[in-house]
Amino acid sequence: MNNDRVNASIITIGDELLIGQTIDTNSAWMGQELNKLGVWVKRRVAVGDVWEEIWNALDEESRQSEIILITGGLGPTADDITKPLLSKYFGGKMVVNKEARENVITIFERYIKRPMLAVNLKQAEVPDVCEVIQNKRGTAPGMWFEKNGKIFVSMPGVPNEMKGMMKDYILPRLPARFSLPAVIHRTLLTAGIGESYLADRIKDFETALPHYVKLAYLPNFGMVRLRLTATSKNVAEITQEVDRLFATLQDLVQDVMVINEDKTLEEAVGILLSKHKKTVATAESCTGGYVGHLITSIPGSSAYFMGGVVSYDNAIKENVLGVKAATLDTDGAVSEETVREMANGIKKLMKTDYAVSISGIMGPGGGSEEKPVGTVWIAVAGITETVARKFHTRYNRMRNIEITAIYALNMLRESILKDNN
Ligand code: AMP
Ligand code: MG
Repeated sequence: MNNDRVNASIITIGDELLIGQTIDTNSAWMGQELNKLGVWVKRRVAVGDVWEEIWNALDEESRQSEIILITGGLGPTADDITKPLLSKYFGGKMVVNKEARENVITIFERYIKRPMLAVNLKQAEVPDVCEVIQNKRGTAPGMWFEKNGKIFVSMPGVPNEMKGMMKDYILPRLPARFSLPAVIHRTLLTAGIGESYLADRIKDFETALPHYVKLAYLPNFGMVRLRLTATSKNVAEITQEVDRLFATLQDLVQDVMVINEDKTLEEAVGILLSKHKKTVATAESCTGGYVGHLITSIPGSSAYFMGGVVSYDNAIKENVLGVKAATLDTDGAVSEETVREMANGIKKLMKTDYAVSISGIMGPGGGSEEKPVGTVWIAVAGITETVARKFHTRYNRMRNIEITAIYALNMLRESILKDNN
């Protein structure tokens, strides 16, 4: 298998990438797209805007891979040296590309509406030894070079310009040039079980996997995604095999499985609410509307999300949601009774089938001996009952908020399942 892999190297260029001023998102995106296509991403290299470094990276990566994708350093400013370097590297000279020139002029006329500088027109110059990839989203054209059977593609660093060229031009051309295997992924999402317990539970399944099927654990925010990946030239055969294995895997994790697709928890909750034609509302204190934000990030959520109240202050809990003053006095804002009253209150107010409420201490301050930082109460008012649970988070403020939102969405999911089974 390894011998007929088609290898790719990704070279990202820019001083800003090395010092972390710009996060290299280009490599991650390109890596995913190449992987989907069956190209083996062998190496990722980041170099500064330095002539020798870029030159050496080209030399080294052309020894490693058949496909070398390069981004960055194509801007009009003096620090961007990739283009003249590539011209020299591939033995060409700079010429004006007519189509690229018209593109630069059009962009200035239509969008920038300011006099063009000489450097802007320089964007239309390309080495005469490349195939030019026109840029529909910006002024810098991309360049496709070939040398000794290897492909080198240089693209702008601006992520959306790079993505446009990859999708429109580069990715569609690779399968025609190389004999690529099919890559098949099957993903499921679990919640409420730690990675090591999950691994222990499915260890026999994992050991028995054929060599061309890999299992990946992808943990994030209290949930673990399990992904089976198979790589093979025989698509039909492998698809059947992976589907069979995936069915076995689903059986093994049935009780902790959120969804048997590559979807998020909020998507899974949305699918459930839509399926059962139910609605939900939120009353959030310490998460400040984050649960509502997650729910509404899903297209079509207007069908099931009625609204939310960020009841940060006790006065809002009392006056808007109807939490009793006595409850707040006696039990406090972070308590079972308060979140129950919050959930029931918002459910009545918004006339929904479900309601989620949250009250907790996200830190770093605000904790006490009785209720330390990280104490969170969550309630879900459902059709038949209101369930409340206490959690303890132990991260920084933002991560505590994120993980609390996951707990809340998962409780909501469990309530919907229980009511509608
Ligand atoms: P350049 O093509 O070097 O002029 O880069 C143009 C813009 O794209 C700059 O704002 C860079 O910070 C950004 N950029 C360059 N390389 C990357 C990368 N690998 N990931 C994300 N953004 C990038
Ligand atoms: Mg740059």
